[in-house]
Amino acid sequence: MENKAYMQDGKLVVPNVVTIPFIEGDGVGAEITPVCQKIVNQAVSKAYGDSKKILWKEVLAGEKAFNQTGSWLPEETMEQFREYLIGIKGPLTTPVGGGIRSLNVALRQTLDLYVCLRPVRWFKGVVSPVKEPQKVDMHIFRENTEDIYAGIEWEQGTAEAQKFYRFLKEEMGVSKVRFPETSSFGVKPVSVEGTKRLVRAAIEYALTNKLPSVTLVHKGNIMKFTEGGFKKWGYEVAEQEFGAQTFTMNQFDALKKSEGEDAAKAALKEAQKQGKVIIKDCIADAFLQNTLLIPETYSVIATLNLNGDYVSDQLAAMVGGIGIAPGANINYHTGHAIFEATHGTAPNIAGKNIVNPCSLLLSSVMMLQYMGWNEAADLITDALEKAFESGEATHDLARFMPNGKSLSTQEFGDKIVSLL
Ligand code: NAD
Repeated sequence: MENKAYMQDGKLVVPNVVTIPFIEGDGVGAEITPVCQKIVNQAVSKAYGDSKKILWKEVLAGEKAFNQTGSWLPEETMEQFREYLIGIKGPLTTPVGGGIRSLNVALRQTLDLYVCLRPVRWFKGVVSPVKEPQKVDMHIFRENTEDIYAGIEWEQGTAEAQKFYRFLKEEMGVSKVRFPETSSFGVKPVSVEGTKRLVRAAIEYALTNKLPSVTLVHKGNIMKFTEGGFKKWGYEVAEQEFGAQTFTMNQFDALKKSEGEDAAKAALKEAQKQGKVIIKDCIADAFLQNTLLIPETYSVIATLNLNGDYVSDQLAAMVGGIGIAPGANINYHTGHAIFEATHGTAPNIAGKNIVNPCSLLLSSVMMLQYMGWNEAADLITDALEKAFESGEATHDLARFMPNGKSLSTQEFGDKIVSLL
């Protein structure tokens, strides 16, 4: 297993010299990928000298793959990610018309990467649309394989949509479709297993990183069996699998009923004192309001696919970081994880040496943390903090900073290397 990360007894093992397959990415990918690799290599070398090293191995996807091989996502690329477990990718052009709908979706589905992890924090100096961005420190676990995003839908007017409606009406006794003749239909599968593995990962993450709470975000008040199921099964995971390490709002409510509110509050306080993770839930619309009003009350967020999509972008925007938000798609059972730039290929600025490399760079930080190479990860985060605080950033951020100094992509990369 030389140079390959592997799973042993349910735990990821990363050798000191590890091969990481990477997709350079289309458009601005060619600019951000080399800059990030240079910074990561330097941070690893600073942190560990010669004892640890990443061997970068390019694999093809997107336009570059199509031009060289005729395939948008060659099987060999999938094989490499399957074999080496951990990979990283720049943004990819979405092919227009026919074939693969989205390369990102294809990668997630093929490797069953069921967690989309988006940590959201604010960097001092970065201009934000909210008054107290320092209060935002959340870690979103978005379910990545189910929900209304599963791709099971039929267009209005097709024979399939009509057949589906007939099935609803004749076999399932559904009579409340308002405009049946012109309706498209979509199916929203939410399973016990799919929910439990996501919530389990979120609780384990909170425990590992000593975070205070996990909030289940759902619309179970309206969609009782799907989103309501998510909430119910989420609490079950906490109580059945992490009973000694968590305190749930279900337990709080039961205590309140049997022994009164003061006793329930005292139990909650005691659980917090003991460092237990508090498991609570919030209706998605109220949650979006609360993130603006009382962001400090949330830490880890576990939510379904569609809610997670909205929540990730809102929270990223709140820290002024839609262009610097990192992300990863992970399967904690198999160990497979692909870290990614969350923005697109930015064709309007490609080749101009002005793109901000921070989304891919912070995703690289997440990758180092996933590998357990925290010292190298911390060096990069500290360097970014210093650069932003002194107003040094690429133009997209620097232009809004009172003390902003716009640097090119290359200059910014060199600055970070010098600050490591
Ligand atoms: P985009 O994210 O590429 O660009 C939107 C705007 O943000 C543009 O003005 C761009 O210049 C700017 N921008 C994006 N990233 C930036 C960065 N790092 N630094 C500075 N400015 C940045 O979105 P789009 O234009 O809608 O999509 C372009 C292509 O990218 C499409 O083919 C789309 O399908 C694809 N895409 C891929 C991914 C992915 O691979 N994860 C995500 C979104 C879009």
